[in-house]
Amino acid sequence: MTLDAATSAERDIAHHIHPQTDLDAHVRDGHFNIVRAEGVRLYDEDGHAYIDGLAGLWSASLGYSETRIIDAVTAQMQRLPYSSTFAQRSHPAATELAERLTAIAPEPLSHAMFMNSGSEAIDTAVKLVWYYWNAHGRPGKKKIIAREKAYHGSTIVAASLTGLPRMQEDFDLPVQGVVRAPCPHFWRHGRDGESETAFARRMADELEALILQEGPDTVGAFFAEPIQGAGGVILPPVDYFDHVQAICRKHDILFVADEVICGFGRTGKMWGSELYALRPDMMTTAKALSSSYLPISALLVSTRVSETLRAQSRKLGQFGHGFTYAGHPACAAAALATLDIYEERDIVARAAEMAPYLQNGLRALASHTLIGEVRGTGMIAGVELTRGKDPATPFDAGLGAGRLVQDAARERGLLVRALGDTLAFCPPLIISEADIALMLERFADALDAVGSTLSGA
Ligand code: PLP
Repeated sequence: MTLDAATSAERDIAHHIHPQTDLDAHVRDGHFNIVRAEGVRLYDEDGHAYIDGLAGLWSASLGYSETRIIDAVTAQMQRLPYSSTFAQRSHPAATELAERLTAIAPEPLSHAMFMNSGSEAIDTAVKLVWYYWNAHGRPGKKKIIAREKAYHGSTIVAASLTGLPRMQEDFDLPVQGVVRAPCPHFWRHGRDGESETAFARRMADELEALILQEGPDTVGAFFAEPIQGAGGVILPPVDYFDHVQAICRKHDILFVADEVICGFGRTGKMWGSELYALRPDMMTTAKALSSSYLPISALLVSTRVSETLRAQSRKLGQFGHGFTYAGHPACAAAALATLDIYEERDIVARAAEMAPYLQNGLRALASHTLIGEVRGTGMIAGVELTRGKDPATPFDAGLGAGRLVQDAARERGLLVRALGDTLAFCPPLIISEADIALMLERFADALDAVGSTLSGA
């Protein structure tokens, strides 16, 4: 480590609290300092290059060298660095972004609201669910159903919807009114001899039983990621969402799709909603909306919802929700340039074209002794490590199997994320076939390197 690097590590330890981090490990081991990026590679302060196997945080879909986004932001900053969108004010970038997003959104979404993060989009969606049912004279219909292993963010309500205990422990969460539905992970929860379709039916039946137990008149909305991301890259079983949507319609429950990871081509379709034939009443997007060049998120809503908001604002005198930076001109310009690139380069088709290299390449490793399941679709995948080959034989949690493989991959120039013992892959959608091959080679090397330690565990 150079003197400069040591100084920067000490400064970071002294004053910087990192999100989603083992804070003792930070103080003990210091930080991993990324100082520049190019294409699909990140570079540390010693000049080592790493393939970014997670596209930042499932988000930098165009990689790191899009000068066009930077130029669009610069031009916007010179023209109009800030203007609010409160109280009927707008600016061309916000208007255009709402128009462009709703033009490509799944049916029946017709209106967009902007905010700065996925969590804010989720919080906004929950507020709108409550507002909606109050407006419709059904104030008891307020509970929100979210699933085990869901990840919906870190703010108070988003963390409450999240189905991962660490996001709630000692934060006095979840807030009241969050109801937990089972995670439909067939490999983990399927019974002996049960087919995937039978499992999907059972998961849907359990969801409906839960709704009936709570009372349909008390349930306002069901929130779901089309593919559960940070909970371990969990794909829904065949037909699952068809059943779930039918149940939501039957009990008049709003369906909210959280597309913060799945949106903008990640699955090989523009939306996870397209892949699974979802017709959400509301949909959250963030991350790849600007390819992460600037923070921006959007909540898209159907006309049924937007008309309700309008009626309620007429009654109350104002729609009383919104953020200072909603539709920030620079962030909106970054998103518009990103959407231009998606369209012109047909990034969705490119993701679909590259997907088999990632998916087949990972599945070719499935016989490795450490691997329990390889799962994924499009350009998102998870590799779960187990001691035996099935979910009933996990590694001891204290062993940190996922973390060991993550660290070994990093030593070999690959960044992947350990979610417990699942290694997540979500590379930039612009990654080449050659870099996918390199990524797989490094991952296989990392598995081999830690294999002997773990297989004896
Ligand atoms: N929803 C999903 C599906 C996510 O994956 C995330 C973040 O990873 C969020 C919401 C929260 O987004 P943010 O971290 O921008 O608040």
